[in-house]
This record gives sequence, C-alpha cells and structure tokens, in this order.
Amino acid sequence: MEFVTDLHLHSKYSRAVSPQMVLPEMAKWAAKKGINLLTSGDFTHPLWFRNIKAELEEAGEGVYKLKIKNEKLKINEVRFILTTEIASIFKQGEKLRRIHNLVFAPNLETAEKINQELLSRACNLSSDGRPIIGLSSKNLLEMLLAIDKKIILIPCHAWTPHFGIYGSASGFDSIKESFEELSNYIYGIETGISSDPWMNWQIEELNNRSILSFSDAHSLPKMGRELTVFEINKTLDSLSYVDIGKAISYPLRKKSGRNVASESGVAYTVEFYPEEGKYHYTGHRNCKVTKSPQQIKEDGSICSVCNRRLTEGVMYRVQQLVRLQSPEATADGGQTKQEKDFRPYNSHSDSKGVLWIDDPRKVHPSFVKLVPLNEIIAESIGSPVGSERVKIQFDEMCLEFDSEINILLKTPIQDLSKFAGGKIAEGVAKVRRGDIVIEPGYDGEYGKVKIWNGESDAAKEELETENQLGLKF
Ligand SMILES: [Zn+2]
Ligand SMILES: [Zn+2]
Ligand SMILES: [Zn+2]
Repeated sequence: MEFVTDLHLHSKYSRAVSPQMVLPEMAKWAAKKGINLLTSGDFTHPLWFRNIKAELEEAGEGVYKLKIKNEKLKINEVRFILTTEIASIFKQGEKLRRIHNLVFAPNLETAEKINQELLSRACNLSSDGRPIIGLSSKNLLEMLLAIDKKIILIPCHAWTPHFGIYGSASGFDSIKESFEELSNYIYGIETGISSDPWMNWQIEELNNRSILSFSDAHSLPKMGRELTVFEINKTLDSLSYVDIGKAISYPLRKKSGRNVASESGVAYTVEFYPEEGKYHYTGHRNCKVTKSPQQIKEDGSICSVCNRRLTEGVMYRVQQLVRLQSPEATADGGQTKQEKDFRPYNSHSDSKGVLWIDDPRKVHPSFVKLVPLNEIIAESIGSPVGSERVKIQFDEMCLEFDSEINILLKTPIQDLSKFAGGKIAEGVAKVRRGDIVIEPGYDGEYGKVKIWNGESDAAKEELETENQLGLKF
C-alpha cells in the first residue's frame, strides 16, 4: 500500500516549537491530513523520550502507535517511527561547517543506546530537542553504525546556506566530500522547502539516492506541508522499520545489485513551491535586493545597495554544483548536458487535473507541487490563514472528504464546489494545475504565493482591522 509519511518534525522541546506539538495532537492532525506515518521527532531529548516511551506502544517492529484510543479522531490509525535531528558544528578541510542531519532509530532500545553514546561524548541533550554537537557528520555516522547498522542518517534540508550539506555558506560540494568512505551509507537526502526534486535530479551523485521531502514542522497546521509517499508491499499493521529503511535505500541497493526483489521505494513526493522557501533566490533582505541565477550571470553577485556579497540562494547553488559534479561542465558558464536535459519541465496532468513533474530519464519518481489547503481557503474566503473561519472550513472539508491530501489531489472539483463553494473549489483546481503567482524568497525572507493575482480586498481589510487592534499574524 501507499504510506503517506512525514518523518521530520519537532516536539515542544525543540526551540521555537509550539507547545501543542505533543504526540496525541500530532496524531490527530496527521489523521486529518491523511498522513499514515509520522516521526516522534526529538528522541534525543530526555523528557520527550520519557514521554515517547509512556505514550507509545509497538504496533510492528520498530513502528509505534498511541496507547490511548479515540476511534472518532482516527488517531490509532497513525503510526510513528523514531527520528531526531542533530546539528553538527565542526571543522573539516579548514572550513567551519554547520550541518543538520536526520537520524532514524530502528527501535526504542537503539534510540536509548544512541542517547547514551552521545551523553558519554559530553553532548548536551537537554537544552534543545535538536541537540548541537561537536562531532562531524561523518564521525556521527561512524558512531551510529557502530551501535547498529540499521540506523539511517539523512542530511536534512540539504540546500539551506547555513545548515545544509550542500549549503553555500558552511556545507560541502558533495556527499563524498562530507562522508568520504562512508558515503555508501547515505541512502537519501531531504530536499527542504527551498529546493524541489527537479533541482536535485540534476545532481549526479543523487541518481542512486532517494530524494525525500518532509515538513520540518514546528506547529500542527504545518505538518505535512511536504511529504514523501512510499509504496511498500505491507499493510499498516505489518509495517516495520526495516520496510521503511528498505524503501529509502532502494535506489542504492538497486545500483549495487543487492536483494531488491520486492519493488518498494518512493512513489512520489508532495512539495511546496520551492520559491516559497526562504533561500530560493540570491539577495540581501535588508537592502531589498533579489536576483535570479540569470541576473547573477549578467551582473554578478555583489549587492547594488551595500556593495557586499549577496547571500547565495539555493537556485544558484544548484547550478554551481551541477557544474562542479558534471564532467562536461564548461568553464565559461555555458550549459552542461545535464542542465539541457532538464529544461524545460517534463510534466503530465492526471485525470483529476493534477500537474505532475516527471524525470525525463525516469531515474527518480515524479512529484507534485501543492499549496496547503488552509492557505487556499484563506485566500478564497478572504480571511487570515490563522483565523477561526479558516480553521472551521478546513476541519469540515477534511471530515467530509476524508483528508487534506485527498482534497488536494483526488476529490472531484464538482464535489468540492458543492460542499465548500465555487471559489474554494476553483482555488484547489488552480493549485492542481499550477496556475498560481509566486514571488521567490531570498536571504531569510519567505517567498509569497498567490492563487489569484491581486490581493483580496476582504483579507486586506481584515488584516488592517487586526493591525489596528495590535494583533500580529
Ligand atoms: Zn534543521
Ligand atoms: Zn528540523
Ligand atoms: Zn546589500
């Protein structure tokens, strides 16, 4: 069956995370959104780990479910595995590196061993659900593999300038440079919000690795804003941690000709518009200067306001690494063969009007770019995204049509129109076919997505009233 998964989340014990990020609430929202498998997140945090052990019980090997029952909210149909995010700050190759990695533990006992080992190396696990350690990514992986070979490490939000493995500020030029002889244990990367699979398809060393997308949510409504859907030949009750590990490592196992009889792996990913991410374009937030890769080619990457170097965006960095990793790269900045292969987008529409982006070489699975339903509702009815009206409409629609993912991808537009009105239905239809307007993000500034060109007057008025009242959204 298809498993809709969000395996990068944070608990209330991580910095800047909502106090509502607790397991029963996470499961409730997962059910609404149509997510089958979540991560516990933050298993390295002692208080949260105690919480995990108290509230979850094993459902399949290394897969957990809530002990408390609530049939109406369908929370018992949601499964959890154990992952945590670890921030490494270290020096490698004379450069200061800051890299975030996602660590998957095969079960509670192994998670406990990981925590003990980190503690014995004087890592502070209590101050943040996402601990900061002085071990390099490679030494961390080495330590984890010595505990159990089934532990998986995935570099997360791989392209963010300051914390990603490919980041322009403190990252590496390749997985090989970072993990050296352990590179074969890196089965995939997480794309993060500022990049989409299409950008990653161009990177040669990712051809044999899974391209994964998760939400990195710090609050309940943001869960599932990016998702990975796995096809695994199991039922919800028979699913094990090893099945997920096999699905993630499928491309690498296939390449090495190992035991891949049962085809399982990533079926597709659901993506944010990468332009919405905070580091898509190159720019300076304070100087209000932003540049596309084409503009940088034409007039360089120095800020026209302050004359300092602009913060490099993900789009530009991808093009840089394509050239570095591609043997036929040309010195004068001309296009490589790989770049040419991928432009323009290869895509097809399905019977529900959803636009899928396809890999022309069929190396990687297709993906779809969506806008969260609460944002569609907000713009359609002209009400702020955090407002009560939007929340009520969102809940009613999820109840009627089973889940958010169903509404966004599968429910017939006529049915949506009958239930929620023509405007919301039209919003969903526009998102499905990619007919929206985007202002790319840059230098820490989120990009802006509009379904309809031109701001809705009602939303503007409502915002103004709220501003007068001193409320902030
Ligand atoms: Zn991170
Ligand atoms: Zn995170
Ligand atoms: Zn500037």
